[in-house]
Amino acid sequence: MKHINEMKIQFPNKSANEGFARVAVAAFASQLDVTVEEISDIKTAVSEAVTNAIVHGYENLKGYITLECRISLDEIEIVVSDFGRGIADVEKARQPLYTSRPELERSGMGFTVMETFMDEVEVKSTLGLGTTITMRKKISADS
Ligand code: ATP
Ligand code: MG
Repeated sequence: MKHINEMKIQFPNKSANEGFARVAVAAFASQLDVTVEEISDIKTAVSEAVTNAIVHGYENLKGYITLECRISLDEIEIVVSDFGRGIADVEKARQPLYTSRPELERSGMGFTVMETFMDEVEVKSTLGLGTTITMRKKISADS
């Protein structure tokens, strides 16, 4: 895909930054011809990925999260990275209803939500080094 614009921001793993990330991506994506529904889908997926980085990536430690966004005429790509604990078994983590933190009343639906609202979700993770989530969504040309 030919990128027409890109951005990268970095913020600490404070819960207030979940809302910031969601709005930042929505503002960036709005230069494409996106529908209200597409923006809403993108915000929901970003929210899940950033919440995971905050809640699971660093647990009680401090750390930084990066959010990258690239757009072409008909696609948006969003990359959320943390440099925290990593995921031991990605396949298991992606299963609907799987959570390692039931005591936090997590429902284990974050990855399922990302997959539902985006066209592609790639997870790259290394124990002790961190996790990178890459999500892509086609934008309907005639919106
Ligand atoms: P919910 O998102 O419904 O509140 P959840 O966060 O537990 O619950 P998912 O978002 O689907 O569910 O994530 C599943 C599991 O994958 C998590 O419980 C956690 O063990 C692991 N995980 C997800 N993202 C990360 C991450 N960035 N770093 C480390 N572990 C992660
Ligand atoms: Mg989650």
